[in-house]
Amino acid sequence: MKKLSIIGGGPAALMLAAEIDTKKYSVTIYEKKKAVGRKFLVAGEGGLNLTYNSSKSELIAQYSPSEFIAPILKTFSNEDLIQWLENHDIPTFIGSSNRVFPNLDLKPIEVLNKIVEHITKNGVKIQFNKTWTGWNEEGHLCFEDSEIIETDITVFALGGASWKVTGSDGEWSELFKTRDVNVIPFRAANCAFEVEWSKNFITTHEGKPLKNIALSFADQVAKGELVISKFGLEGNAIYALSEKIQAKLMSGQTPTIYLDLKPTMSIAQVSEKIKNSPLMKMTDILKSELNLDRTAIAILKQFSAKETYSTADLLAKIIKHVPIDIQSADDMDKAISTLGGIDLAEVDENLQLKKVPQVYVIGEMLDWYAPTGGYLLQGCFSMGYGLARNLNELK
Ligand SMILES: Cc1cc2nc3c(=O)[nH]c(=O)nc-3n(C[C@H](O)[C@H](O)[C@H](O)COP(=O)(O)OP(=O)(O)OC[C@H]3O[C@@H](n4cnc5c(N)ncnc54)[C@H](O)[C@@H]3O)c2cc1C
Repeated sequence: MKKLSIIGGGPAALMLAAEIDTKKYSVTIYEKKKAVGRKFLVAGEGGLNLTYNSSKSELIAQYSPSEFIAPILKTFSNEDLIQWLENHDIPTFIGSSNRVFPNLDLKPIEVLNKIVEHITKNGVKIQFNKTWTGWNEEGHLCFEDSEIIETDITVFALGGASWKVTGSDGEWSELFKTRDVNVIPFRAANCAFEVEWSKNFITTHEGKPLKNIALSFADQVAKGELVISKFGLEGNAIYALSEKIQAKLMSGQTPTIYLDLKPTMSIAQVSEKIKNSPLMKMTDILKSELNLDRTAIAILKQFSAKETYSTADLLAKIIKHVPIDIQSADDMDKAISTLGGIDLAEVDENLQLKKVPQVYVIGEMLDWYAPTGGYLLQGCFSMGYGLARNLNELK
């Protein structure tokens, strides 16, 4: 029987271990922490989005590069994942935002335990406190406790480089460079971005949400919500633009994002509402005719000139297009996910390293991007499932 070693115990690894044929492979997961799935549990703290309910083509379009993820999601889609979870006694429901959650009576730890229970029943062994530290001269796996493990097939599922406390610290990147594998430097994704708020504004509006807005940058538009923080802006709308904002920041330029406070109305409609109002004070007009709250109005004041605020047509344009300069991205360790990792050019269509045969790489440690909202876990689970299927079919 062939020996299959899985390094790292996050969602990508767990799905692989759940689906691998243990009549064909003797499988062990080596996890550096004393438990598997620690980042999965952190994800569960703010509402665990397991996947996103949309058509396959809409799903694929959320990923970058979508050509890379398309065959992976076609093999194991959001519908497949929902069915898989159901089959493993993890019923789900679709929230109002189309995000897919475990049923309300199931805590994230219970979801994780059910998956781990299934893996153990499948005959996969798990070793904890086992940190992989590289390869020796013979190409065997080396661990921190000096153990050397000889294996037929290795699958790395080491995660990205945020929330180091969960074990996903990106330290593995130097180890891959020793095998001449190109690793793209990590950057924060799905993270907060810095905005220079005026002192008056942030004192009053820190922690306030901006709901039902749209945000645009570089031809991309993201609908959703934002939260004002001392540092700047957070929330799903800005997370969705994080890849493009980071690219601009990396080029040394200041990205200007545009906030649309009335995404369901045109500039002309906004302007008409302002002009036709019987009210006299602009602040009253914005509140009662356009339903803008104090925070939205304060943003308009901070980012527009005084004359704009008193002229209906100019103000309507700004309400639909508030320019906000982004100074920097937040600390990588606080980010939901990271950009960077193993260069996709380094793997073949089965996610095998081209330069190191019999070694596969899955999950967030590869250089792909998806917004938060269930897409990240879906991508990781799909890679684990697809690889299990391929390995099970190997002669
Ligand atoms: C706050 C937060 C909220 C999130 N919310 C969501 C959400 O709602 N929906 C969603 O889709 N995604 C969410 N995510 C993202 C999601 O959790 C990750 O994308 C996913 O966990 C990545 O899975 P993975 O299997 O690639 O790696 P990880 O889950 O990062 O697991 C990698 C594992 O490898 C181990 N490891 C690392 N190095 C070594 C080594 N040298 N030796 C042995 N083991 C090692 C680590 O200890 C870790 O257990 C969230 C993330 C965060 C931080």
